[in-house]
Amino acid sequence: MRLVLVGPPGAGKGTQAQILAAHYHIPHIATGDIFRSNLKAGTPLGVQAQVFMDSGELVPDSVTNEMVKDRLLVADAVNGFILDGFPRNIAQAEVLRANLVEKSTPLVAVLELSIDNAEIIARLSSRRTCRDCGLPTTNTEKCPTCGGDVYQREDDKEAVIKRRLEIYEEQTAPIISFYRSEGLLITVSASGSVQEITERAISALSRIS
Ligand code: AMP
Repeated sequence: MRLVLVGPPGAGKGTQAQILAAHYHIPHIATGDIFRSNLKAGTPLGVQAQVFMDSGELVPDSVTNEMVKDRLLVADAVNGFILDGFPRNIAQAEVLRANLVEKSTPLVAVLELSIDNAEIIARLSSRRTCRDCGLPTTNTEKCPTCGGDVYQREDDKEAVIKRRLEIYEEQTAPIISFYRSEGLLITVSASGSVQEITERAISALSRIS
């Protein structure tokens, strides 16, 4: 299963990607997580990405495309992957397509999680992230999964959320038509419980594989 997950920030891509990755036994590759772990480790890549991430802007394509290309070469991605947060614009989608065509491993599907803006702002502004395990939670004190301290991501503050949504509309939403015209797009509603959304996704994906 070679899958891209697309949807606005706050649609629950990370949560669903993690569940689907376990279900299909493939790695969950989240570009935002890779940038954040580089930032935490203070690598040159992290330092380079920070200014863009904190303001909600996209990290330049040259940096992001190279990072994803390298990640897809790791052995665990040989039998498939779920990309979460990549591609974020048409140029990245084209680079990904060329890269996969070259290896004769094209995408199997692009799953769009669809949700309206009011629900996103409500979800994201109450979201906290665990400093230790990185999982999202609505708990404002401790992570319910590992007990670590939680914090509010700079880019989950309301002004930055609005900017991320604008960027999504301007730059990322066009990839939906791109993938629709390639016959790869599957859209499911991202409203409801985590389990309901997963069931919708797995049922939709079972029709193509
Ligand atoms: P996310 O966790 O997916 O919301 O990503 C957090 C931030 O990382 C984004 O707001 C961007 O600054 C950066 N980022 C993640 N994925 C990409 C991408 N595909 N292209 C450019 N920047 C990205």
